[in-house]
Amino acid sequence: MIPYENLLNEAQHLFSYTRQLRRDIHQHPELGFQEFRTAEVVAKELRDCGMMVTTGVATTGVVGLLEGTRSSPVILLRFDMDALPIQEENNCEYVSKNAGVMHACGHDGHVAVGLTVARILAQHRSEFPGQVKFIFQPAEEGIGGAEKMIAEGVLENPSPDFALAFHVWNHAPLGWLGLAPGAVMAAVDDFSITLTGKGGHGAMPEQAIDPIIAAAHVIAALQTVVARNVSPLLPAVISVTQMQAGSAFNVIPQSAELRGTIRTFEPDVRQTVLRRFEEVVRGVAGAMGCGCEIQVRSLAPALVNAPAVTEKVTGIARQLFTDGKIDSSFRTMGAEDMSFFLERVPGCFVFVGSASEEKGLHHPHHHPRFDFDEQALVVGTAVLTASALELLKEGG
Ligand SMILES: [Zn+2]
Ligand SMILES: [Zn+2]
Repeated sequence: MIPYENLLNEAQHLFSYTRQLRRDIHQHPELGFQEFRTAEVVAKELRDCGMMVTTGVATTGVVGLLEGTRSSPVILLRFDMDALPIQEENNCEYVSKNAGVMHACGHDGHVAVGLTVARILAQHRSEFPGQVKFIFQPAEEGIGGAEKMIAEGVLENPSPDFALAFHVWNHAPLGWLGLAPGAVMAAVDDFSITLTGKGGHGAMPEQAIDPIIAAAHVIAALQTVVARNVSPLLPAVISVTQMQAGSAFNVIPQSAELRGTIRTFEPDVRQTVLRRFEEVVRGVAGAMGCGCEIQVRSLAPALVNAPAVTEKVTGIARQLFTDGKIDSSFRTMGAEDMSFFLERVPGCFVFVGSASEEKGLHHPHHHPRFDFDEQALVVGTAVLTASALELLKEGG
């Protein structure tokens, strides 16, 4: 087995390869299910590593299988490829060439790390048992890439014993790692509500049914779900993030629209919040004389790290980065569709600190000036490569 310090050296050694890939993909961002160019780059690099490659999974997904000396165990490594509908406001030399589309979440870095890990593991294939399944996933940003890949059978032939993935994390500096067991990212349920009243003259409210005042009461009352129906020791969020109604100073509109998101960790809290959400909206709308239509879209379950796998990855991280800061209680109400894989396969999702205040690389994810310290890619490569090898060894 390769000593882990050597893997860190190998990751560092390949840094210019990783960076060149990341910058190329950053210049050519593609939205979910449209990652055709990205998928081409991925497939070519995986084939260069001598892998069996399947393309066109869930439209643009790519799967590569790297065979070691035996057929089991099987480790799944997943990397997301999609960009966001944001106009980039950075001035770097690798700025996006696609107007209105930007890698503002760091998935360009994830793809580059995936291909670097593939390169390193391919060089060591005669030294480990089992197989490594590389999954390059489209459409992570809320449009169902993971679910679609699973539906198309990526968890079969061969089915993985363990799964790993990571995210560059600009809310923490380079050198920080978030590695906690259990639920670390929230379940997401997005909602939209249409409140229907009766339009009329703004000066004669008694002849109308005002959906705006109903919306105001609904928004306020929804906050009591978290405050009064959920234990203060358990996390839950209801955010109303959009409100649309009306077109004039003196007109009471016919209807009002509200949209937002619900985040929870525990399945029973999720159920309680969803049930109370609906009761409160219907009850308040009814009290205000309005009709209401509610739509809830369940986007992802909570992302749950398997304790045993997380402990192993943490041990590896401690060996690799003796001066690194490992936060083993880190959780966020953000969400990730890696949760669909981790619902079926025990594994670990690692947050890799990527911000650098001095270099001005500290804008949050999804910001038009988002960018990160590319040394985080070396950290990601080393952690995933060493953890995959450790799991292959242990499980074999
Ligand atoms: Zn994102
Ligand atoms: Zn992301």
